Amino acid sequence: MLQEGIIRIEKIPDAGLHLVETLSQAYIQDIFSGVAHTTVDGVVQVDLQINKQGKQIIIQGQVEVPILTTCARCLSSFSFVLKSKIQTTLFPKKTSSSKDSVTTETGSKKKSNKKFQAHNDVQSFLEQDESDEQMPENDLGAGEYDGQIIAYGEIIQEQLLLDLPMAKLCKEDCLGICPQCGVDRNETMCQCEVRTHQIIWDKLKLVKPIDG
Ligand SMILES: [Zn+2]
Ligand SMILES: [Zn+2]
Repeated sequence: MLQEGIIRIEKIPDAGLHLVETLSQAYIQDIFSGVAHTTVDGVVQVDLQINKQGKQIIIQGQVEVPILTTCARCLSSFSFVLKSKIQTTLFPKKTSSSKDSVTTETGSKKKSNKKFQAHNDVQSFLEQDESDEQMPENDLGAGEYDGQIIAYGEIIQEQLLLDLPMAKLCKEDCLGICPQCGVDRNETMCQCEVRTHQIIWDKLKLVKPIDG
């Protein structure tokens, strides 16, 4: 079976590669396994431009994937399309430890970050390099590759996970459910709040004023 989300460097022409493809739902579905009530609901549409610049690999473009989740306010299920921008520069790994990272790459589905380490590792590498490339501000702005294979699928996974909103709302002005009677306030307007105010007001009226 064809391995998804990777490409060999030699397959990238000098003029660059415009990669338009889909990543299967199976490939991507466990990236949100740690996020409650959130699953991938289809394939990932990938539209990337991959360019070589010396030994650097520049990947930019966008991806989108349908997500099925639960509204944080009204608890109803809804789906939306999660879109991510990809903007990454990969630098060749300086160490010779590429062997084990290749095995992780081809074998398991394990979410290994070996091929994709964030800033700090890269920073030290950059300092020795004469490159005048600026470090992007985004956390996923830079990574490493092992010299032969670009695991762009892992970059996509990480970026989608980063871009997933913390509070997922079925609509921006979702009214949520009433904490007292439990109705979905988007559908029914209950009188709970009004009633609560009335009860407090009534109780206040029972308090007899102290005569001076
Ligand atoms: Zn809602
Ligand atoms: Zn209510």
